[in-house]
Amino acid sequence: MITVKLKKNRQKSLERKHPWVFSGAIDHVKENPKNGETVKVISADGKFLSWAAFSIKSQISLRVWSFNENEIIDSKFFKEKILQAIEYREQFVDSSNTNAYRLINAESDGLPGLIVDKYNDFIVCQFLSSGAEFWKQEIVAQLSALLNPTGIFERSDVEVREKEGLEPISGVLFGKIPSDLIEIVENGIKFLVDIKNGHKTGFYLDQRENRKLVESLTNQKEVLNCFSYSGGFSAYTIKGGAIKVTNIDSSAEALSLAEKNLSLNQIDSSKYENVADDVFKYLRKLRDANKQFDIIILDPPKFADSASQVEKAGRGYKDINLLAIKLLKKNGLLFTFSCSGHITTDLFNKIISDAALDSGKTVHIIKHLTQSMDHTISTNFPEGLYLKGLLCRVN
Ligand code: SAH
Repeated sequence: MITVKLKKNRQKSLERKHPWVFSGAIDHVKENPKNGETVKVISADGKFLSWAAFSIKSQISLRVWSFNENEIIDSKFFKEKILQAIEYREQFVDSSNTNAYRLINAESDGLPGLIVDKYNDFIVCQFLSSGAEFWKQEIVAQLSALLNPTGIFERSDVEVREKEGLEPISGVLFGKIPSDLIEIVENGIKFLVDIKNGHKTGFYLDQRENRKLVESLTNQKEVLNCFSYSGGFSAYTIKGGAIKVTNIDSSAEALSLAEKNLSLNQIDSSKYENVADDVFKYLRKLRDANKQFDIIILDPPKFADSASQVEKAGRGYKDINLLAIKLLKKNGLLFTFSCSGHITTDLFNKIISDAALDSGKTVHIIKHLTQSMDHTISTNFPEGLYLKGLLCRVN
């Protein structure tokens, strides 16, 4: 077994069971591990710290599989971890009306770099670290044995792989090739999902619980759904009794899928309007036309990919939130989100407070929102929290 020794006093984060070690903390590596190979991590004074996957290229050189010296990192280890993750979901996801959810949430489920989502009888995986890539075959074998899916599809076509010295890749790993659109059900609402080419692994599963909350507040309301993608929130607004929902997305393809999803749920086309436009521009058009809404949803893509983009992203969030607050009727509701991990909860709250102040209106935070429960956050890995949201009442 190859041993990696840390520099003096650089074992603190591992002692707190955080799963990452950065390259600067490494004193020396005995022999040359392969990319992703399991190594034994020891402190400067030779004490065992963890078993971890070694990454040759990434700044995050080590991602921990286990802090237990007696653990053997093999197929059995993966089987147990996968089973634990499945059991957790069985406890929190109502499978009687939902068949699409996250099964494994990487570091937060003790499996760094591994994302596994269930879409009806298909499984979609992302192998985002060299360690996850190293064990891909065993992981796929365990997933197919434990879940008996029709197929397992890989969506590792993401840039972060390059940081690990891995090529972006996608394709079938097991079983059948999925059709272009597969049908799922979420809280009793049907959706068509493009798992081969859609965003992330196909659908924003992390918004499931927030969509349910939207449904409960939309009766007889007129709703503006900004960054609507395939109509996730939109279908819930109509199910909740909304008079009308306006969907805005810059992607005509996303809007066309949204239309399919709404008609799949027998929603009449008089109940919705699809606008292919830039949200920043369209909110200004609505303002100039003196339009007002009862409810506005703002669920933009990630504005900050790195710490250096936080300031610019902050201006973007403030801009759309200020416009939205002004477009709300008296006692209107704003559902506003940020999925940028680099924007902290405190900073997001501050941005919304600044927008509220500039709007001249009174804004109350009714509820703090976050990612669905299947998108676990381990206390040892605060980075696992990325989706922040606020439900605000505006008057
Ligand atoms: N709310 C959605 C997910 C939103 S993902 C859901 O629950 O499924 C972000 C969406 O914003 C994508 O569909 C993307 O096409 C769209 N988008 C990105 N930038 C945009 C812009 N400036 N104006 C309008 N839409 C934009």
